[in-house]
Amino acid sequence: MQTLIQPITTESLAQAKEIIESGGVVAIPTETVYGLGGNAFDDTAVKKIFEVKGRPNNNPLIAHVHKDYDLSNIIDYEPPYAKKLRAAFPCGPLTLVYPSTGKVSPLVSCGLNTLAVRVPSHEGAQAFLKTVGIPIVAPSANISRHVSPTSAAHVFDDFEGKIPLILDGGECQGGIESTVCDCTGEIPTILRSGLVTREMIEEVVGACEEYTPDLSKGEKVKSPGVLYKHYAPRCKTMLFSAKNVKNAISAYVAESLENKEVAVLCEEKWIKDFQKVGAKTLNLGKNQAEMATRLYKLLREAERICKLLIVVEPTEKDGIMKGVLNRLQKACTSEDVLGK
Ligand code: AMP
Ligand code: MG
Repeated sequence: MQTLIQPITTESLAQAKEIIESGGVVAIPTETVYGLGGNAFDDTAVKKIFEVKGRPNNNPLIAHVHKDYDLSNIIDYEPPYAKKLRAAFPCGPLTLVYPSTGKVSPLVSCGLNTLAVRVPSHEGAQAFLKTVGIPIVAPSANISRHVSPTSAAHVFDDFEGKIPLILDGGECQGGIESTVCDCTGEIPTILRSGLVTREMIEEVVGACEEYTPDLSKGEKVKSPGVLYKHYAPRCKTMLFSAKNVKNAISAYVAESLENKEVAVLCEEKWIKDFQKVGAKTLNLGKNQAEMATRLYKLLREAERICKLLIVVEPTEKDGIMKGVLNRLQKACTSEDVLGK
């Protein structure tokens, strides 16, 4: 199969619609990362998404809809706090989990009776969703466990010959996946952190919880996606906390002496220290938004330029850095399924 990369035009949108209506998948840009989109009502399309990504079949998908889509088609109940959240964040990197009407394919939520829904703000994504008019499930357009894609070229690298069309909407500005927030309980619960922070949610609705599964107790997790190694570059990694930057420098020196191709990913303030010892460096940036935007691009760059990547965690841990840190830690873990 030939994989076309097309700018978003009336023609390419019509082509995308045709593919979606015949049960195929199309890669689409969003403001977070690129997604691999398919018709949420169509079992065959949903199955194809799991297959082509190699995604574990207990990791549910998010349904994406355009901003005027009638949610009552797909969600059964919306608590008042969720209405407030939707009013405050009508579109953007926030996914809300609701009780489902069960109208989408049962494969979407992997047997759960809930449905995760997001309205992306990216103009190209909106144009595509308007054109198709139906909910589109769209997990990140990468082979499962690999780094998420923030450009059409990243998607092409993972899926050349496996999907017919990539709609090219430029580089993703957000850079990490949406915040996933469960809206089935008394108060909203963040299942995955992202660009909409706990503080932003609390400002709108007051109380908000953050979910961390206690894996030691064999608890059934609310958001199976949190279990998996994810976002990983195809090179070895060593992760250091910002407090241990000196150890990271010593590790660089020791590892590079052994003739390995080593590179370093760290925030801007450490770059000079690593360059002094001759390291190839990847600059994550100097502020939170920059670090989120650059993260995946640099992890993909790392796999091109080195065999071992030394990563220093950013110093700041609050706000959107929670999401950045969570991605970095998962990218650098050696376990395939966490807490096993
Ligand atoms: P991705 O599609 O790779 O961005 O991942 C989607 C994330 O949303 C994963 O962490 C899933 O576990 C989570 N998710 C999707 N649907 C649900 C749902 N119905 N309930 C809880 N979490 C969900
Ligand atoms: Mg993903």
